Amino acid sequence: MHAERMERVRAAMAAQGVDVLLLSVGADLPWLTGYEAMALERLTMLVVPRDGDATLVVPRLEAPRVVERPDVFAVHPWDETDDPIGVVTALSGPAGTVAIGDRTWARFLVDLQAAAAGSPAWRKASEVTGPLRARKDPSEITALRDAAAAADRVAAQLQDGQIPLLGRTEADVSADIGRRLIDEGHRRVNFAIVATGANAASPHHEAGPTVIEPGQVVLCDFGGTWPTDSGAGYCSDITRCVALGPPPPEVAEAYAVLQAAQAASVAAATVGTACEGVDAAARSPITAAGYGERFIHRTGHGIGVEEHEDPYIVAGNATPLAAGHAFSVEPGIYTPEAWGLRLEDIVVATDAGPLALNRADHDLVVVEG
Ligand code: ZN
Ligand code: ZN
Ligand code: ZN
Repeated sequence: MHAERMERVRAAMAAQGVDVLLLSVGADLPWLTGYEAMALERLTMLVVPRDGDATLVVPRLEAPRVVERPDVFAVHPWDETDDPIGVVTALSGPAGTVAIGDRTWARFLVDLQAAAAGSPAWRKASEVTGPLRARKDPSEITALRDAAAAADRVAAQLQDGQIPLLGRTEADVSADIGRRLIDEGHRRVNFAIVATGANAASPHHEAGPTVIEPGQVVLCDFGGTWPTDSGAGYCSDITRCVALGPPPPEVAEAYAVLQAAQAASVAAATVGTACEGVDAAARSPITAAGYGERFIHRTGHGIGVEEHEDPYIVAGNATPLAAGHAFSVEPGIYTPEAWGLRLEDIVVATDAGPLALNRADHDLVVVEG
């Protein structure tokens, strides 16, 4: 699997005129090698010359964590008194164009640029890896499906009333949801937004000390990372809203529009449809119902080893969906100082049509407390 990915990476490097690819922290490295770099001041970097062997330069004390894959890369541990920038520069050789991982710390990039032989052009590695990572292979789709099923089980607990809400703070409920994501098999929690009442009008509200009260609608948007044998984890991401008592008519009406728009957008996500077409399928009915100005974000984002990656479901992205593209469909309607609603599923484009991975009840479920 990793050897095959390395081959595709080299082909993309050749097509784009990239001589060396450098990967450090971020999702590209675990996707390509199964190893996730620690985000520390000691440099970890995979050096992939287009026509030479790949080498993982790693701090000696972290080398025991590396699962070796000699068919894909060699391991070069460096000692505390070594100069890892020099090691990477030597392994890179003279290069005309270097692509470096988007999330590499600036301190390393600055040092690498100063040390580079000649003055290579520097590009973002995502130009090489983004389109490759966006199209999931069957093992990746299985991992995303398992992650989504686990997130669905937590959503069902929320909708069944098994997660107490009334009288608790958002932060408490957020921690509770996080524990349940782990209990259901995730390896880590990436986020658990809990926003009650007016707080939900801020799409990325941070769960805080606000106490959840009767009559409120509570927006919960959460996800974690699902472990796999490949070494890379795959993300879940789901949003459901629940109401503590019958919702006010204006909220119920807006939710009905949102739910229909979300379903229309999922249905539109067929192979060959432009990403912006999927966005439009969610946005048109919301705009037609008069809520257009209150849908203040794109419809979705790709998902995989990272929570947010290519392809982005947004106006202006004419990229046609291809089989294996995995992404969220998550329209929202937000009324400042009053309430907020969002509904989110992860969807995979397949030759047989859109495959929605999340199955938790899509209604605005009323819970007792
Ligand atoms: Zn978000
Ligand atoms: Zn989400
Ligand atoms: Zn999302």
